[in-house]
Amino acid sequence: MRYLSIKSLLAGLVCFPLISAAEESPNIVVFLVDDMGVMDTSVPFLTDEGGKPVVHPLNTWYQTPNMKRLAKQGVRFSNFYAQSVCSPTRASIMTGQNATRHGTTQFIKPETDNRGEFGPPKWNWKGLTKECVTLPRVLQKNGYRTIHVGKGHFGPFKSIGAEPLNLGFDVNIAGSAIGLPRSYIGTYGKGTSRAVPGLEDYHNSGTFLTDALTIEATKAVDDAVEKKKPFYLYMSHYAVHGPFTPDPRFIEKYLNKGHKKSTAAFAALIEGMDKSLGDLLDHLEKIGEAENTLILFMGDNGTACPGHKGKPSAPLRSQKGSCYEGGTRVPFIAAWAKPSATSAVQKNWPIPAGVIQPQAIGTVMDIFPSVLELTKTPAPKNHTIDGSSLKTLLSGKPDPQREQAFLMHFPHKHRSSYFTSLRLGDWKLIYFYLKENHCELYNLKTDPSESTNLAEKHPKELKRMLGEMKQRLAREDALYPVDATGKELKP
Ligand code: CA
Repeated sequence: MRYLSIKSLLAGLVCFPLISAAEESPNIVVFLVDDMGVMDTSVPFLTDEGGKPVVHPLNTWYQTPNMKRLAKQGVRFSNFYAQSVCSPTRASIMTGQNATRHGTTQFIKPETDNRGEFGPPKWNWKGLTKECVTLPRVLQKNGYRTIHVGKGHFGPFKSIGAEPLNLGFDVNIAGSAIGLPRSYIGTYGKGTSRAVPGLEDYHNSGTFLTDALTIEATKAVDDAVEKKKPFYLYMSHYAVHGPFTPDPRFIEKYLNKGHKKSTAAFAALIEGMDKSLGDLLDHLEKIGEAENTLILFMGDNGTACPGHKGKPSAPLRSQKGSCYEGGTRVPFIAAWAKPSATSAVQKNWPIPAGVIQPQAIGTVMDIFPSVLELTKTPAPKNHTIDGSSLKTLLSGKPDPQREQAFLMHFPHKHRSSYFTSLRLGDWKLIYFYLKENHCELYNLKTDPSESTNLAEKHPKELKRMLGEMKQRLAREDALYPVDATGKELKP
């Protein structure tokens, strides 16, 4: 009899799983900030050699209390990478592929091909299409309500990718081909080529754009919850991209502190974005979804902040559009919106509080596979993913299986032009296609500011890194810059 009762108990478990559907399908928020570098915050991301966070002067200039709150609840990375400009990163988050592979290697100009004089003629300037495998599309098929809020920038004007609804989103609030808003105030640029679409209810209401997007995002979340669907919210702020408009809610405290007005306005944009994060966390708690919602906070490329004596990423070198660390190192925090010891989904995917990963390298390509694993969404067939799941690193542990690498391919013109860089462990190689001395080599462990080029001093390391770079470029089907005759320039 005892045997039978255990058997019937097991049968009962099969029929009535102990974990509810909601707990099996956590909500995801990708909170993406435009042009936010790793130093544009009061949360210290960089560490000393012992892995302890170090507060640099920029961390005392910016005020981001809600990022601090999120960092206290979760895990953050010192070494998290995005591409050096907007569209390549955005397509990487959507596809899990490196820019080399998806081919949108430069930012998309909505009106025209932006390849540059020596850029590869066949680069993907049309961006994402209906045929593309995208994260929202696979989540949509798995029962998720997929919500796009803010900046899209996935394709030029009149292209398929100009409309996020074509790419797997159920809802699009204020997204289009534009990469920046004409204005954060008034009518958000109505009547201009960079008008933010679809926020007519807020025109001339005095609502700052960042705030209008936040309010609309919370409404879309409520709607998903009402429909009893788990949601994927791609919260893609136009902030803190220019125009550097003073946000009246925060600007006062940054004025008359010895900085330019635009530098102060940038800091106020940052704080407005930070308030949005706090408002969203509060709202999730209010509606009872916080324990079941994972927040992935990140920037899309290095800072575009004007001022700070030309060193807006100090101690890192350079800024947005650059091959140096200030161009590609962005903040990354992963945390449950409300940590809970009793939540089944959090037990299955634990994230310790207040932990920093000082050495492990993460990239924007890792979002796609991480979200698939978390949501138990099958990996799409015939779709190569260049990233890998962050689950182990988010549990606070090291992940010895993981490759510590980031390949960044930019065969176009910007602050740094026509380069490929490869970070591999402590080493970083930058290859310039059009310069006579092609290579720069840095050891980021001993020289995080990339001040001393070691290419001549370490020829063996240089050769090894160059070999690795060539292999990876070939593996990802790279398109190379061309010379004046149209001939491909390979490293
Ligand atoms: Ca950007």
